[in-house]
Amino acid sequence: MKVNKRKKILVSGGSIAGLTLAYWLHQYGFEVSVIERSAGLRLGGQNIDVKGPAWEIVKKMGLSEKIRAANTTEIGIRFVDTKDKIVAEFPKDNALSMTQEIEILRGDMVKILYDGVKQDVTFIFGDQVKKIVEEGEGVKVFFNKREEETYDLVIIAEGIGSNTRQLVFGDEIKYNYLGLYCAYLTMERLPQDGPWARWCNAVGAIVFLVRPDNYDKTRVCIFFRSPERGYEKLSIAEQKELLIKKIENVGWEAGRIAKAIRQTDDLYFERVSQVKAPRWHKGRVAMIGDAAYCATPIAGKGTDLAVTGAYILAGELARRSNLEGAFSHEEAFKAYERLMRPYVTKAQRLAPGVPRLAYPDTRLGVAILNSFFSLAGSRVVKSIMQFFSKDKKQAKEEIHLPDYEVR
Ligand SMILES: Cc1cc2nc3c(=O)[nH]c(=O)nc-3n(C[C@H](O)[C@H](O)[C@H](O)COP(=O)(O)OP(=O)(O)OC[C@H]3O[C@@H](n4cnc5c(N)ncnc54)[C@H](O)[C@@H]3O)c2cc1C
Repeated sequence: MKVNKRKKILVSGGSIAGLTLAYWLHQYGFEVSVIERSAGLRLGGQNIDVKGPAWEIVKKMGLSEKIRAANTTEIGIRFVDTKDKIVAEFPKDNALSMTQEIEILRGDMVKILYDGVKQDVTFIFGDQVKKIVEEGEGVKVFFNKREEETYDLVIIAEGIGSNTRQLVFGDEIKYNYLGLYCAYLTMERLPQDGPWARWCNAVGAIVFLVRPDNYDKTRVCIFFRSPERGYEKLSIAEQKELLIKKIENVGWEAGRIAKAIRQTDDLYFERVSQVKAPRWHKGRVAMIGDAAYCATPIAGKGTDLAVTGAYILAGELARRSNLEGAFSHEEAFKAYERLMRPYVTKAQRLAPGVPRLAYPDTRLGVAILNSFFSLAGSRVVKSIMQFFSKDKKQAKEEIHLPDYEVR
């Protein structure tokens, strides 16, 4: 399905969704540029899991063995109390475990995807789209630093806080804020970290999740319940100060984590919100990944949706391009939405009581939750764990992946 007359496509955002899209668009013969706002790839974050349709797609990309080789060393998850006493344990092979077959650091996944396309695609780092004007057969794109340029299409893959999406779709986009903030960072590994992920509930509706990585470091995630306060818009220094104040006196390893927050240069701090967009395309612009349909990290679906959406959008664009250069981007965008929408709707469905149940506020609430965790078969635990691990059985049947032929 090579497109003879090369169409120029700008992909904005160089992460999981944008890089997967760039790969497939290049395979089909499009001329692709990727613009990434950061000065280089953003490599922070904890584990992500690659499963179900995403696994099928990375196999088609010839990347599955590289991804498998970068697997983190995690063997399961332990729920611990603030004295670090184990209250429940879910090994990797337990159907309810959050630890999946293929766990890879988000940064490793980004690097693997980047290495797979860097030769074939133009990369622009450290700049971003300022304005988009559709005119005739193309889109004129104005940048913060570069000269303007005209493309056939622009695809937004900028993650949850996308600016370009705001320029194009404005107030159409709604957020379903789940009442949580999350922060990710890396810290030095200590002997107590071991090969298990540890989940600790602390007072103040705080959850610490520390996970081993394959670089002898420990990846930390802090979730806390809060009304929506716009914390994600603060400067990094302000975010650090807020987080440290929040966790300082809650026990467990909070002191150590606070120290790591002070020292880190890879803090990622976001609200946990789902993105609800009534449409994913407008004129010659479309969106993929978290920018279009963030399901939140607690759903464990970010990678699946990002990779699958990119694969389907590229395939549908190629299907509607012919050797003479005729091109129906509108039909392709519609087909992409038709195929992806049911999958996204399912992925964004929340289990009853989650996340409220998993983040009790008070000391008593924490004790009650821990006692529920210790009864691993209880309905509360099942509901929480199934939310994180539901795909283990269902992944393959979730969405039918069309076979787009690359000639
Ligand atoms: C630093 C970081 C750490 C993360 N850590 C985790 C984690 O530990 N666990 C988890 O489940 N999810 C994490 N996520 C989110 C996760 O990557 C996504 O949920 C999922 O993989 C979907 O990917 P995406 O490509 O749609 O969006 P993202 O991975 O969020 O990537 C968006 C990309 O677009 C770039 N960008 C943003 N605005 C612009 C702009 N205006 N112009 C150009 N580029 C722009 C960003 O710098 C980023 O590279 C993290 C995201 C980031 C950016």
